[in-house]
Amino acid sequence: MEIRGHHLLCMLGFIGLGYNEKFILNMDKIIKKLNNKHNMWIKLVDNVDNICAACPNNINEECKIDSFPGSVKERDRAVLKVLGIEVGEVVRYRDIVNKISERMTEEKMMNICKDCEWFGLGYCLEGLKKLKGG
Ligand code: SF4
Repeated sequence: MEIRGHHLLCMLGFIGLGYNEKFILNMDKIIKKLNNKHNMWIKLVDNVDNICAACPNNINEECKIDSFPGSVKERDRAVLKVLGIEVGEVVRYRDIVNKISERMTEEKMMNICKDCEWFGLGYCLEGLKKLKGG
């Protein structure tokens, strides 16, 4: 499975919201699968991934939101940099979750995600707090 860097944070706060029904069902399925298979190997990417596969913003295998300043790719790379993971690296899901818990802070997440349309809802940050045991 391939997951783009910033989606690691989106998955923490997923409460069943998304761009449309197809997107929500796909994201829900991926999260449930990963939660049941902590040993699964994940390739961390900065381009369209298994979540983007069902997204209406995925046009010809590019995220159309990518055209805005502070692009989605930059957000992916910023998340992976905090976690100490290279773009293209393959890591077990449980090790990724441990790295998020150890290395991602609320402040860092705010800096990376503050311009995202979903961040203001607060669920993503709540997800990080929960993971870190707060
Ligand atoms: S295509 Fe863009 S908006 Fe859609 S899931 Fe992927 S990164 Fe998010």
